[in-house]
Amino acid sequence: MPLKLAIVGRPNVGKSTLFNRLAGKKLAIVDDQPGVTRDRRYADGRLGDLDLQLIDTAGFEDVADESLEARMRAQTELAIEEADLSLFIYDAREGVTPLDEVFATLLRRRGKPVIIAANKAEGKAGQSGIGEAYKLGLGEPIPISGEHGEGMAELYAAMLAAV
Ligand code: GDP
Ligand code: MG
Repeated sequence: MPLKLAIVGRPNVGKSTLFNRLAGKKLAIVDDQPGVTRDRRYADGRLGDLDLQLIDTAGFEDVADESLEARMRAQTELAIEEADLSLFIYDAREGVTPLDEVFATLLRRRGKPVIIAANKAEGKAGQSGIGEAYKLGLGEPIPISGEHGEGMAELYAAMLAAV
């Protein structure tokens, strides 16, 4: 049985980049709720010896209206509900933003297994925003770089420990 992993967080933190790194063959999305599922992407994936079923919550950068946050929140809730484990991503270069806090609160309230990763942590610029994420209450942030493949062993260990 693969571990169902939801990759969640605000737009532009690097969710899809990590999803693509972990994913093998993409799976088609077939569902009778197109308005909802269009916003989530699925793939089989692997990290070390862990078989994964990945869920990527889409960015909605193209939808610039006031329903944006509500839609993102609904997507995230659906993904968390489906998943065995959620991986909350934030941008270590930007640091913790108010929108990150909105998502973190949502995750804490669900009370399901969650780990937090500080993405874009490669290089010096990536080190600054790591410590402040403790205040989100999701545990110790794991520094990773989805783009460069750094921190994958630590991510694997944290995933094993969380489920
Ligand atoms: P999403 O909206 O959360 O799915 O974010 P994307 O995966 O689309 O990435 C948003 C931007 O961040 C893109 O320009 C990526 O190239 C960049 N990005 C993603 N991962 C990393 C990383 O590990 N390091 C750096 N420096 N940039 C990254
Ligand atoms: Mg994306």
